[in-house]
Formats: sequence, structure tokens, C-alpha cells
Amino acid sequence: MEIGIIGAGIAGIAASIRLAAAGHEVTVFEANEYVGGKLSEVRMQGYRFDAGPSLFTMPHFVEELFEVAGQSMEGKFAYERLPIVCKYFWEDGVQLNAHADVFKFAAEVHEKLGVKEKTIIRAYADSRYKYRATASTFLHKSLHKRSTWLTRDVLKALFKIPRLDIFRTMNSVNKSRLKDPHLVQLFNRYATYNGSSPYKAPGLLNIIPHFEHGIGAFYPKGGMIEITKSLFGLAKSMGVHFQLKTKIDEIIVSKKKATGVKVGEWQHNFDRIVCNMDVFHAYKKLLPKEKAPERTLRQTKSTSALIFYWGMTEKFPELDVHNIFFSDNYELEFEHLTERKTVYDDPTVYINITQKYESGDAPEGGENWFAMINTPHNVGQDWDDIIKEARENIIEKVSRILGRDIRPLIVCEHILDPRLIEEKTSSHLGALYGTSSDNRMAAFLRHPNFSRQIKGLYFVGGSVHPGGGIPLCLLSAKIAVELIGQEGEQ
Ligand code: FAD
Repeated sequence: MEIGIIGAGIAGIAASIRLAAAGHEVTVFEANEYVGGKLSEVRMQGYRFDAGPSLFTMPHFVEELFEVAGQSMEGKFAYERLPIVCKYFWEDGVQLNAHADVFKFAAEVHEKLGVKEKTIIRAYADSRYKYRATASTFLHKSLHKRSTWLTRDVLKALFKIPRLDIFRTMNSVNKSRLKDPHLVQLFNRYATYNGSSPYKAPGLLNIIPHFEHGIGAFYPKGGMIEITKSLFGLAKSMGVHFQLKTKIDEIIVSKKKATGVKVGEWQHNFDRIVCNMDVFHAYKKLLPKEKAPERTLRQTKSTSALIFYWGMTEKFPELDVHNIFFSDNYELEFEHLTERKTVYDDPTVYINITQKYESGDAPEGGENWFAMINTPHNVGQDWDDIIKEARENIIEKVSRILGRDIRPLIVCEHILDPRLIEEKTSSHLGALYGTSSDNRMAAFLRHPNFSRQIKGLYFVGGSVHPGGGIPLCLLSAKIAVELIGQEGEQ
């Protein structure tokens, strides 16, 4: 079949590889002059930064694409496991190294906070339990096909519901089992991995620590951009055509079937269409005449982010690749993000420094800082004002905790805010992860990987099932392509 893909985000590229491997002729249309969407890079004055995602988990989903393509990954993509997943800093002087090895991390927590080692070990075991009980059904399959529900795995998961913490918030689960406020904050933070609030998201999201400590946090050689570059190279080697600087204006629908795409007056017919554009804009912009699933499209969007890419003139040996400087009042920070739709003046700051692994990412003696805070999605706030204040607050906070004035060390700066994220990737309201998981039904309320009304139209990417983040986007491509392959059977 001839298949058209709208968008060369990571899910669009992954879908193209799987479809080409299945023998289809594939063309990917991308609005930007570069591929990768959020997974791209920024360069300035001798510094290089990964533009969006910085944490690489579940590398086997990337490896699987090379396997599907029948090609070796050697020399094309490499990664290594991080010995320390993240360094955590608090205003009261506490610092924790989150060792990848759970036992080592538990020993560190015991030494620094006096918390029993078994408390930490149990928390990770619980995370693993939740992952094993749910992943095969809720992440790897379409939730919108009857066949998914008629399996043993589902039956098994149903029996495990009481231990899945679906009816309590992440925060209440973490508070009752961890008690120490530093640890509660550290484990609550995992809600932000899909743009949610730990004070609203169900305790089931405590599955996420297993991704980092059980399966591992990894560093791709050359930076996150290598995920995009290597998969783009793989797709091209399989004959996938990429048409950059081509923003699709419309999906042509005839007799309730998607039959092609249109750019201005130009149009091309396809047998199937895979849409990697945010599903909200896909309905509103590309399918304006079709009935949209309004309830699905109205789901609360995930948080967004404000990022300062700073070229620093000095090195900070006390920092690692991933560093977090926690807010003194996490609950109030999330109330600002979710209720007041603004940024708290003591924000949690995440700093990513790839220069720790890639000496070429900064000039000699310097470091490339990607300093990010969570923000609400864009509802028309005065972002220029927010950026100005947040910049000051971040600089003061980090300088205070490190005991070193960072302001004079910033030699160049680039800023990414929710408005720009939406502009560059067509993500509705600049949300990083599609819809948030701030309610317990969120998993079921994401848009399926296919259209119920329009035959031959499929959806992939962070705005649809199973959700945002690189691993889930890669899974969305796998599910959609499997559905295309099973068409005759449905
Ligand atoms: P997107 O990256 O959203 O790209 C969609 C593409 O489609 C874009 O290139 C766009 O130009 C194109 N497009 C849209 N409409 C059209 C059209 N009409 N015609 C042609 N082309 C079109 N994930 C992690 O796993 N780890 C992290 O640490 C992490 N951190 C993040 C930090 C930030 C700042 C951001 C922004 C995201 C982060 N994420 C992280 C989330 C992750 O980046 C996304 O979930 C993922 O990259 C989304 O991929 P996607 O396939 O949905 O497409």
C-alpha cells in the first residue's frame, strides 16, 4: 500500500520504519525543515543542547526498530546506562545521589536521611509490581479494541486492582509509605514525567520509578538528538521518502474514508494516512468538516515547560547529567501550575548538562546548561512577564543552593516557552505530553490510535494512546502499525 504520514516527530519516524519493513511505500510530510519535532537540538556560540527530551528510558524500543528493519545498530546508535540517575538538591542542604542500583540508593538515603533501607527497596519493588501488572495491556495494546480486553493479562490485572493504587493520589500513597518529606517529594516528582500533578494523578503512576531504576536511565552517545538522527537514517535507508517544509493543510476524506492529503492546491492520494500531528489540531485544522470526538479533545492538557539554554563559562563538578533543585513547597508549586495556571516563585529547577558525557557540547572549560521549570500549558498568560520573573528566581535559587553566583557565568542564552513549543510542533497549548494523567480515567480517555469514524486514518504520537514521552510515542507507532496489519481481521 502507499501510506502517507503527517509529521516527522519520533512517533512518525518510528511508524515509517515499521510500515516500510512491512513492505509499504511510505512518504512522511514534515512542516519544519528538520525532523524530530520536540526531539531536536539547539546550537549557539560553540554550545550544543538537546532541545526537548533529555531523559532516555526504555532503549529497547529504539533497538526494536533496528530489529524490525533487519539492520544492525552497530555504528549507528549506542547508549550506556547512567550510574547515577539524578542528583537531587534541597534548600535545607540535603543532597541525594539517586544511584541506578536501588540498594546503593537505599544505603545513601539511609545515611543522609536516616530512613530504613527497606522503605526505598519496597517502594521500587511496588513500582515493578505495578509495571508488570499493567504494562502489557495498558501500554502495549490499543485500549479501544475488544480483542485487548479478552485476554488472560487483563483478567490478571483486574485481580491486582487493589494493589494498583488507582483510587488514591500519588502523593497520598507516597506520604503514607515514605513519610520523609524529601523522599515524598522525590517520588512525587515522577508525575511530571507525563506532565501531571502528584496531588491529582492516581497512585498507579508510581509505576514510573521502575522505568528509571528497574529498567534504567540511559545516555545516548552523541546526545538525545542521536535518537532522531539514527532513526531518520534508518527510515531513509529503507526507502521512506521525507518531504520537509511541507505542512499538510487537509486530510482528504471521501465516503468516510481517508484517501489523501492536501497542501494548498496540491494533493496526493494514499491508501492509508498516519497522523503524527497533535490530535486536537488534526481534527480542528486537517479535518474541519468531520465530527470531532469533542469529549476526548476536551481532556485536560499536560503541563508545558520553560527552558533556558545557557552557555556557561565554568564547570560544576558537583553536578551530573541530570540535576534537580527542589521547590520548598511542592504542593503550592503544583497549585500554581494546575489551578492558578502560572509559575510559582520558588520553582523546582531541572538542569541537564550533556557536556558531562560529550566534551564537544561546550567550549573548553565550560558547560551547556539546559535549565527547565514546569509551567502550565498556554492559556494566554503574559509569558514575557513570567519568563522575566522565572529567570531571576531560577538564577537566585541555583546560586543559593550551589553557593556560587551563576549569573556572570552565562555567556549566551536561548529560550523555549509554551508558545514556541506549540508553534514549532503544533502541540495543542504547548503541552509536552498530550493530555495529563490528572484523573484516574485518563488512560481510557486518550484518543485511540485509529479513527472510529474515518476508515484508513491512524494516529500516533504523544497526544494519543498510550501517551507522551519517547517510549510511549514509540509504542503508539507500534500499536498503529499493528492495527493496520490486522485490518482484515477486524
Ligand atoms: P512531536 O515531537 O510533537 O512532533 C510532531 C511533528 O509533526 C513536528 O515535527 C511537527 O512539525 C509535525 N507536524 C505537525 N503538524 C503537521 C502538519 N500539518 N504537516 C506536517 N507536519 C506536521 N520525553 C521523554 O521521553 N523524556 C524526556 O526527558 C522528555 N522531556 C521533554 C522536555 C521537553 C522540553 C519537551 C518539549 C518534551 C519532553 N518529552 C520527554 C516529551 C517528548 O519529547 C515527546 O513526548 C515526544 O518527542 C513527542 O513526539 P511526537 O511523535 O508526538 O511528535
